[in-house]
This record gives sequence, structure tokens and C-alpha cells, in this order.
Amino acid sequence: MNITTNLSGIGMTSQRTRSRLIQRLRDKGIIEESVLAVMEKLPRHIFIDEAMAHRAYEDTSLPIGMGQTISQPYIVARMTELLVMSGKMDNVLEIGTGCGYQTSVLAGVSKWVYSIERIQPLQKQAIERFKLLGLHNVNYRHGDGYLGWEEEAPFDAIIVTAAPDQVPQPLLDQLVVGGRMVIPVTSSPGVQQLHLLEKTDEGISSMQVEEVKFVPLLGGVVK
Ligand code: SAH
Repeated sequence: MNITTNLSGIGMTSQRTRSRLIQRLRDKGIIEESVLAVMEKLPRHIFIDEAMAHRAYEDTSLPIGMGQTISQPYIVARMTELLVMSGKMDNVLEIGTGCGYQTSVLAGVSKWVYSIERIQPLQKQAIERFKLLGLHNVNYRHGDGYLGWEEEAPFDAIIVTAAPDQVPQPLLDQLVVGGRMVIPVTSSPGVQQLHLLEKTDEGISSMQVEEVKFVPLLGGVVK
């Protein structure tokens, strides 16, 4: 595997570079200090191929292989803060582990994280990174996240990091009452709206947050 294993980083991947990214996130409106604190400590360069590591602290999405991307730091921060600021974070489900960066941010603000990825080679690399970082509250599964993780449900919060055309019903079913979900939903070809949903006694309430760009949520698995 070709991941940059220098945790602290030098030059373009140093702590000072990381702090500049955090300032940029503040400038863009991120206000949840617990999320900013976790992201300030987390080395994003270890989630990216070595050849690309010098761009790790730019506020941009980058390719991670297998046609997938690591999400833009602003989007990771925004989706995480929407969940943290709206309620409990004991049992959190993530759909789309990818490189594992969002998972690792969640691990810093949740009690337990459950993350599902459909592409096994990506998942394997992500697991190596969780070990490298010493994260002990992350559980992972290779499977189709559309179906959620029935055995570990219900969840206080669900984050979906790939875009479906509609909110998957199994995920709504696996939220506790009072549980929230952040999910990009395709509204027209190539255009997605980020939604914050909440399950209440009366049903599902929904708020549109902003326009986003994610890879599509696909069915089935890749070995
Ligand atoms: N969370 C990542 C972003 C990953 S990109 C980050 O921190 O940057 C989206 C990921 O969702 C891809 O790895 C893709 O393979 C995965 N994905 C797409 N459809 C899926 C599905 N049905 N179940 C699980 N993972 C899925």
C-alpha cells in the first residue's frame, strides 16, 4: 500500500499548514469548535496518495483511486457540525468510508462509529489508517450502505457521503426518534442538495442546507 505514513508531516503537510486550513474553514462559516479541534489534529495527508500529499491541506476534494474522491474539508466539517450541533452522537453510521477521513473526524466527536464501504480495496486501506491513528471506536463493514446496518441500529446520527436519487428508506428506519441524517440528494443530473433530516414522533422533518457535489451512491459491492 502506498500511503504517507509520516503522521506529523513536514513542509506542506506540517501542523502550521493544517492550522491555516482550520482558519479557512472558520472564514467559510464553520463554528463548531469540537469539529475544528479534531480536524486541526487529524493529518489529512495520510489519507491521500503520496504523489498528491502536498495538496492535502487545500480546501478541495482529491482523487483517491477506484474513481472515488476524498471529500473537501469544508464539506466534511459542515456535515459533521450539522450532526454534532443537532443532538446525540453515541451511535453514528456512515455510508461511504472511502479513504476514511470523514470516518476519522467522526471518531473524534462520537462514541461509536459504524462505517460501510462497497469497494473493498478502499476499505482495506482505510482500515490501515484507522490502525495507524490508533482509533478504537470505529467499526467497519464491506457492503451496500443503502441497506444500512440493521444489527447495530438504531443510530443517533447517519451521514451519507455519496449521493442517491432518494433518501434510502432502510436508513430512515434505522434512525432513533430524535436522530438526524445528513445526506446529499440528486435533484437534477449533476446537481445535489445537502439535506439535514430529523426523525420526530410525527415523521421526518427536512431542511435543505446547500448545493454539493458527491460521487453517486451505487448498489452492490466491489471485491
Ligand atoms: N467519506 C469519504 C468520501 C468518500 S467518497 C471521505 O472522507 O472523503 C464516497 C464513497 O462512497 C466511495 O468510496 C464509494 O465507493 C462509496 N459508496 C458509494 N455507494 C455506496 C454504497 N451503496 N454503500 C457503501 N459505500 C458506497
